[in-house]
Amino acid sequence: MSLSWTPVLKGKRYCSPACGNGCTLKEHLVAHAIGKTVLGMLKKKKGWKIRVWENLGWHVQLQKGGMNLHIHDYGKGLEFSTLLSRERGGSGGNPDWTETFHSKDPNVAVARQLKLARKCIKQFQNSIKGF
Ligand SMILES: [Zn+2]
Repeated sequence: MSLSWTPVLKGKRYCSPACGNGCTLKEHLVAHAIGKTVLGMLKKKKGWKIRVWENLGWHVQLQKGGMNLHIHDYGKGLEFSTLLSRERGGSGGNPDWTETFHSKDPNVAVARQLKLARKCIKQFQNSIKGF
């Protein structure tokens, strides 16, 4: 039998049996708040969704189409990186256009990812030109 990933609220704890880390409701709420803050930082807010999930702590990212905007806190303010999936709603990246670029500005991280993906699309189009 596998343990449930549905979080259970018990006092200050908000953690699922499958996680078992003792995650707190406060951590959950902070993750949501960070997501809202980052959404507010984006120049084009339309279509972005805040995704909060639990796995040994509460985590947050923003997602739109196949674009996953990752939020990092290394203690010097937030930093952002992206992973672009081939599928809408997909979470994984793609080796053709994945890099480890980080920026303090989520708009820069997203723009750079789009530029990389578009460059890759052009290369693919060029490689099949003439068929
Ligand atoms: Zn937990």
